[in-house]
Amino acid sequence: MTPLGHLSLALIAGHLQDYDGRDLSLCLIGSVLPDVIDKSLWRIGPFITGHTLAHSVLTFSVVSIMILALPRLRRLTPFIPGYGAHILADLMVAYPKFMINYFWPLLPQRPTPDGPAVDYWINYAASAPGVVEIISVAIGTYILIHYRLPHQWYNHFSWQQFSEFSSHRREYTTG
Ligand SMILES: [Zn+2]
Repeated sequence: MTPLGHLSLALIAGHLQDYDGRDLSLCLIGSVLPDVIDKSLWRIGPFITGHTLAHSVLTFSVVSIMILALPRLRRLTPFIPGYGAHILADLMVAYPKFMINYFWPLLPQRPTPDGPAVDYWINYAASAPGVVEIISVAIGTYILIHYRLPHQWYNHFSWQQFSEFSSHRREYTTG
């Protein structure tokens, strides 16, 4: 799944939980951090795939339990749905062949194929996870525009203003 898909899923999860700006930010950070960590570790060299340490269901479980169990960390709770949505979405894409990577370090890593990028993304867009991502981005965009952007911004582009502008223009052009 692309970063846009992960952010959209986190936005939907945070919106359903009625998070304020601070909590939604934590949720969004949780949705991108696994890729930032694991893709960096993959580029640097210790791992042979970009889905290991931060993508492991074990790491997710330990992090979630620590946040919920330790009073000092409990304010980070909105991080969990964003992080969890990332792992679930990636598991859906990895199913069934590459699920093994999500149980690191208990199971060995399996390198993902490095085929032509265009072919990969065309196949992905037509697959079930690809369709889920497209729908998630559409719903996320709707939530962002209607509920999460500053009201003045939305008003500025509202249909009401557009129609007022159009009617003024009509008056002007018709004399
Ligand atoms: Zn990922």
